[in-house]
Amino acid sequence: MSKHYNVIIIGSGPAGYVCAIRAAQLGQSVAIVECWADDQNKPVFGGTCLNVGCIPSKALLDSSHKFIEAKDQFAAHGIAITPPKIKVADMLARKSDIVSQLTSGVAGLLKHNGVDVIQGRGKLQAQRKVEVAMLDGATLQLEAEHIVLASGSEPMSIPPAPVDNTLIVDSTGALEFTEVPDRLGVIGAGVIGLELGSVWGRLGAQVIMLEALDSFLPSMDQQIAKEAQKIFKKQTLDIRLGARVTGTDIKEGKVEVTYVQGEKTLTEVFDKLIVSVGRQPRTKDLFASDSGITTDERGFVYVNDHCATEAPGVWAIGDIVRGPMLAHKGSEEGVMVAERISGKPMQLNYECIPSIIYTDPEVAAVGKTEQELKAEGVDYKVGTFPFAAIGRALASGNTDGMVKIVADKSTDRILGAHCVGPSAADLMQQMVIAMEFGSTAEDIQLMVFGHPTLSEAVHEAALAVDGHAIHMANRKKR
Ligand code: FAD
Ligand code: NAD
Repeated sequence: MSKHYNVIIIGSGPAGYVCAIRAAQLGQSVAIVECWADDQNKPVFGGTCLNVGCIPSKALLDSSHKFIEAKDQFAAHGIAITPPKIKVADMLARKSDIVSQLTSGVAGLLKHNGVDVIQGRGKLQAQRKVEVAMLDGATLQLEAEHIVLASGSEPMSIPPAPVDNTLIVDSTGALEFTEVPDRLGVIGAGVIGLELGSVWGRLGAQVIMLEALDSFLPSMDQQIAKEAQKIFKKQTLDIRLGARVTGTDIKEGKVEVTYVQGEKTLTEVFDKLIVSVGRQPRTKDLFASDSGITTDERGFVYVNDHCATEAPGVWAIGDIVRGPMLAHKGSEEGVMVAERISGKPMQLNYECIPSIIYTDPEVAAVGKTEQELKAEGVDYKVGTFPFAAIGRALASGNTDGMVKIVADKSTDRILGAHCVGPSAADLMQQMVIAMEFGSTAEDIQLMVFGHPTLSEAVHEAALAVDGHAIHMANRKKR
């Protein structure tokens, strides 16, 4: 006999658990299937994001940021201290506490909302059935009106650098170093490489990043990416572009990495090597061949704009479908699917999903980059404003970076906003709100911004779009 629900969700990451909670709020009977178990065989909720992704990485970024402030920045404020020391074990314990608080919070929310938790590995079958391989080896049969696939993603690997999670680690291993490596290699100067490279670099590691592409952060606005690259260069990050790793060798407890850059073949020896070359959807063994699900050549499940798959009543959300692999994108897809299942026609505006790199300073963006608009032949105008001319940035000693706003030349509508600088994530969230309401640059120009705030950089960048920023000499208008 199989058990029947309105909605079964496979995977309890930020996409799956948010979908479960919203569907239950809307009156659906919901079950969530999760295969991740802790060492006592209890289910682990929250997926990559809460356990080995967004949250633990930000905990370490915040700890290491406090360390570097105490070590390098307090003196400028007249605060004299003896040089700080990092106790890595305490830092890791704090990170684990935060993860536990949040994952047990999700367990509580699922319970509070009446969501049934089914522990085991779910596999979609034909006709909206799910077979669950339980931890004890038994098999459970479930069926539902709607099934939501939310199995997430896993790190990609490259043959020249096989991950052993001792010397050569993926992002999960890089959250668990028990001491600061003297020399840290990072393959891939993307989001994870920059964030986790920053953590260990701030704590004293010499960090060398080997990036295969010739350009830095190619999907970011290139003016902002270049500015960020300059800032990171001033810090501890040695970013080598056009560096293709061809092999690794373990010698006397260290990793020797060989790479080709231009005409040269070079080697570096590291205490640890992080492989952060992207993530891939986790769709292996997720669905039977007759379930009606199809994927592209990289394994992403085909869905329409509303996350419906090609199989009736089956939906897919989060990292296993197209679009950026971001927790907030997956969560909003979860809400959209729960609403649609419940007869509410919610849409997600994929043009307004912010992306953030939590370096110091942060890099954040929403909407189109200048290079995308150029390629699309859109006539646009640009305003930029540096934090060096913002009083509050000077007061706090965070003057690196700028805000950039791009608007349509004829309609004045804001098409994109980009920032490298202090609190870039929060400043760009203001632009998400503005863009969702269809704001023009003039709308922002006419608003009153509190003084002294970092937000004034957004105001001034909007003024600069039309060549009349107040606190800088404006360049000629485009
Ligand atoms: P996941 O979080 O991967 O969850 C999928 C869940 O499904 C897992 O619990 C898994 O055990 C379970 N599962 C898989 N297969 C099955 C099955 N067959 N049966 C039952 N259960 C199954 N994003 C941001 O937006 N901001 C950040 O700051 C950020 N930082 C990150 C830092 C790092 C180091 C990493 C690795 C990622 C980061 N991300 C960040 C990305 C973010 O973690 C992912 O986009 C997000 O977790 C994806 O959510 P998801 O629910 O689709 O999948
Ligand atoms: P990424 O795509 O951001 O960066 C991978 C980098 O590795 C790219 O620059 C790529 O050119 C490079 N690369 C690929 N193969 C290489 C090779 N053989 N040698 C050298 N370089 C190589 O991927 P990631 O940093 O692994 O992150 C994975 C995903 O996780 C991202 O898509 C991101 O959306 C998500 N994430 C988000 C956040 C955040 O929102 N702050 C943080 C961490 C992760």
